[in-house]
Amino acid sequence: MKPVLGLFIMVDACGWEIIRNDSFGCAFAPTRKQLESIFGYSSTCVPSILSGHWPVEHRNWCYFVYDPKKSPFRSLRSLRWLPTAVTSRRIFRRWLTRFVKARLNFRGYFDLYNIPFRYIHLFDFTEKKSPLQPGGMNVGPNIFDFLVEQKIPYFVSNPAATEEQNRDDLIARINNETIDFAFLYWAGLDGLLHMVGNDSPQVPAKLRVYEQWIEQLLAAARQHYSDIHLYVFSDHGMANCDELLDLKSRIEALPLAMERDYVVVYDSTMARFWFLNDHARQLITAELQRVPQGRIVPDEELERMHALFKDHYFGELIFLVKEGVLIVPSHMGERPIRAMHGYHPTDKHSYASLLTNQPSIPDDVTAIPHICRLMKETGQLAKRRNAAGNT
Ligand SMILES: [Zn+2]
Repeated sequence: MKPVLGLFIMVDACGWEIIRNDSFGCAFAPTRKQLESIFGYSSTCVPSILSGHWPVEHRNWCYFVYDPKKSPFRSLRSLRWLPTAVTSRRIFRRWLTRFVKARLNFRGYFDLYNIPFRYIHLFDFTEKKSPLQPGGMNVGPNIFDFLVEQKIPYFVSNPAATEEQNRDDLIARINNETIDFAFLYWAGLDGLLHMVGNDSPQVPAKLRVYEQWIEQLLAAARQHYSDIHLYVFSDHGMANCDELLDLKSRIEALPLAMERDYVVVYDSTMARFWFLNDHARQLITAELQRVPQGRIVPDEELERMHALFKDHYFGELIFLVKEGVLIVPSHMGERPIRAMHGYHPTDKHSYASLLTNQPSIPDDVTAIPHICRLMKETGQLAKRRNAAGNT
């Protein structure tokens, strides 16, 4: 029997609006709080939680950036001659993604998504390392660097394993008392929400499953640890997409050419532009100002969201759509999906949630990067008390 286990469970996309009117976790984590998320996708939310830093500090923001000199994808350009019927098929993309990931030795999450092969040589991919490992951030340390440095034995999810496998692997580590701290990452709810939307009965059904799994983890932990510090949280929420925006057609109708005049990445809720001449900058800016479904995010606002990159690494102009609008087709997908995240952090469905079995959540824990502080404090407490002796 050990004194303390720090148990941190991230349920991807389990936003405040998802659980606000649901009893999720009330039995084992009755203290709950709404947290502000981060402007961007999981590609920046998760690293922000793991590092306690903001996008401008850790530089894990959006996946694809215009950087032809550093592009590792040049060899894929020859695939542009393949018929779209083949290259736009999800199964082909998935196979190629695995092949490219292995060949380029990428350690993080990687997906070629829907980037056209005709332009793939223009882009670099920004998550070459895994933020779930020590040394995994683009800049600065994360919680795993901290745990290694402090010699705190820990468990972390393997993203290649299923949710159930990760749960069972953690239970095994709990049973043999080899850890003081755990970071468990469940991604299933995010995938479900993208498919069925946030008002489907499948959503509370999935929450009930997670409750059972957490009860299983707690039952094991109670056999081996006298005090369990449990935190269940999300990285962002999820909004239903009720309006589609074909931004690509509008931009391509301008008398400009991609690669010659401008470069763009169409994410599903934002478009990021790099301009190769002033004429392109003027025409595109004017066109975007005529799109009622979104707006150009001013620099001051990006700065307030800690996402103003002075070197414009992730784009010179960021266009963001309103909550509920989906850019389709985009470089993330050819077809519409039911729900999406990555809207403005103060939009209703963007907010994340934090639940715990502790009596209170500190007042200065208001946004998802603050979860890292709770992880560090809990890890240190567990180590200190566990080193002091078994109970
Ligand atoms: Zn998602």
